[in-house]
Amino acid sequence: MCHAFLNDSRFYRFLFEIDQDIAHQVQAEGCSCGGVLHSARYPRKPRGVRSLLDEAYESRLSFCCAVEGCRRRRTPPSVRFLGRKVYLGVIVILITALEHGLPAKRRQHLIETLDICSQTLSRWRKWWREVFPASRCWQAMRGQFIPPVEVSRLPGALLGRLSGEGLSRCLCHLLGLLAPITAASWSGNLRMVTSPQKM
Ligand SMILES: [Zn+2]
Repeated sequence: MCHAFLNDSRFYRFLFEIDQDIAHQVQAEGCSCGGVLHSARYPRKPRGVRSLLDEAYESRLSFCCAVEGCRRRRTPPSVRFLGRKVYLGVIVILITALEHGLPAKRRQHLIETLDICSQTLSRWRKWWREVFPASRCWQAMRGQFIPPVEVSRLPGALLGRLSGEGLSRCLCHLLGLLAPITAASWSGNLRMVTSPQKM
């Protein structure tokens, strides 16, 4: 497996463009009260690949209703940030997926390069085994996979099902499938899934 894209700032730029695209759709929908949505980003400090990320990664795109008395938040789904985790979603997926698929030495090297501690790793494992399988996102998508994806082998088993388009594209695809988990509700469409050639 080739992980060169992890050191390629274009990869992260591409993910940001997807997030921007989703955010534009959310903003265009406006608030449920009819109000206009104004930008109200959340500051973020993603770890592991800081030197490759531009200022776009210092915040998560989010909006706030402009109407006094409403001020409702709308945070679009993200293919960059997996919930509140301080590492980017792509790293959370890749490192846990590689548990069985990479020689121990290379995996260890990757973990050290990305500066991930063992407690963080066990939290991610727990998230994949316990939190994610119980999510609405997974419940809604699991039926698409025949034969069923083995939950005990997430996320590697899921990534394996998307293979055939190169690892970086598989990861983009998977991040797109996972995006609903990063926001309460959104019914727009992810154009990125159909246009990964951009990378
Ligand atoms: Zn409103």
